[in-house]
Amino acid sequence: MKEFDYIIIGGGCAGLSLAYELEIHNKLQNKTVAIIEPRSKYKKDKTWSFWKTADHNFDDCIKKSWKNFSINISDKTNYLECINYPYQSIDSGLYYEKINSRLNKNKNISFFKNLNEINSNNALIFNSVPPTKNDYHNLWQHFCGVEIESKSEFFDDEIFNLMDFDCEQRESVHFFYTLPYSKNKALVETTWLSKMNDDSQKDYDLQLKDYIENHLNLKDYKITYKEEGAIPLFYPSYELKKNKINIGTAGGMTRLSTGYTFLNIQEHSKYIRKNIENISKAKKFKISKKYQFLDVIFLRVLEKNPEMMPNIFFKMFKSSPKTVIKFLSNKSNILEDLLIILKMPKWIFIKALFY
Ligand SMILES: Cc1cc2nc3c(=O)[nH]c(=O)nc-3n(C[C@H](O)[C@H](O)[C@H](O)COP(=O)(O)OP(=O)(O)OC[C@H]3O[C@@H](n4cnc5c(N)ncnc54)[C@H](O)[C@@H]3O)c2cc1C
Repeated sequence: MKEFDYIIIGGGCAGLSLAYELEIHNKLQNKTVAIIEPRSKYKKDKTWSFWKTADHNFDDCIKKSWKNFSINISDKTNYLECINYPYQSIDSGLYYEKINSRLNKNKNISFFKNLNEINSNNALIFNSVPPTKNDYHNLWQHFCGVEIESKSEFFDDEIFNLMDFDCEQRESVHFFYTLPYSKNKALVETTWLSKMNDDSQKDYDLQLKDYIENHLNLKDYKITYKEEGAIPLFYPSYELKKNKINIGTAGGMTRLSTGYTFLNIQEHSKYIRKNIENISKAKKFKISKKYQFLDVIFLRVLEKNPEMMPNIFFKMFKSSPKTVIKFLSNKSNILEDLLIILKMPKWIFIKALFY
């Protein structure tokens, strides 16, 4: 069976980002790569959004970028600016097309559907496939979004809504999220933070219909695209193997308090590319321990006090938006961390240290 220098298991966001980063920096001229990906055709299946706190290779795949956003609870709305770190949405369809058309030009890169088709004994493996088991003991961010098109010019596309908590919470944490791409197109998502063991939360279609028609007050629209997913708010555990490096969600690139993963994947890809000659021995790339610790405490509070979370998120954004964005994007300094921590209800967070 054929052997390769590198094997990338999973040609999704992390697998393709890594292959692209290696390819554009000429690291694959004398190395062979196998990408293992079961899907036979790529089509848009996700919208990756984030505050642009770091450079990435995909500015030409951006669907829309915003400099203003809002967050609201039932009786209050906070309007904020993000001029320094615009919020960007990447269209996965454009992203897959861009990367695949570049990778297909390099004869050293081959695609396979299954790892069994090749010999993986002597390769360096980059794995982006997490262990597949349903885990109802940990928290997930699960959601469903629809892109809608209205007949009339309905949306203000200068501002997006990050979190609208003015909705049923069902003893959990629930919000809607609206990204207006133009005056008559928007992505509207219903998002839950829960253990995913309450099936009543998954009547996503009804939630979206009700929200669009009775909350946004838009009656005349059609759905043009739908995406659904669940992001684990915990780190997967693996047995350590010398020749295997986990990447993407499987590699702990998700920020647990927010679900943001895309930019961390890009930074991990850059790190691997810079250290590729010696990557098995290089220090493991991780989201810093500081955020791991703070996020665990935050999720403990969330689990025990879901009813308080709308207020807690709302209060967090009472700090300067630049500070909050840096904090949520793993870019804050100690002073900025403190400013956020001081906005939190102290007693509840102190108690969470000892659960
Ligand atoms: C719908 C959705 C929206 C998201 N939106 C955002 C966002 O706005 N911002 C953000 O920062 N993060 C977001 N995330 C989180 C995260 O960025 C994405 O999940 C991202 O795609 C993670 O990249 P990945 O490579 O780890 O996983 P994936 O992109 O899912 O890639 C894994 C790949 O492995 C393949 N695969 C599966 N089984 C096997 C197997 N046995 N062998 C080989 N290959 C296999 C799959 O087909 C897939 O292509 C979102 C997640 C989802 C699900």
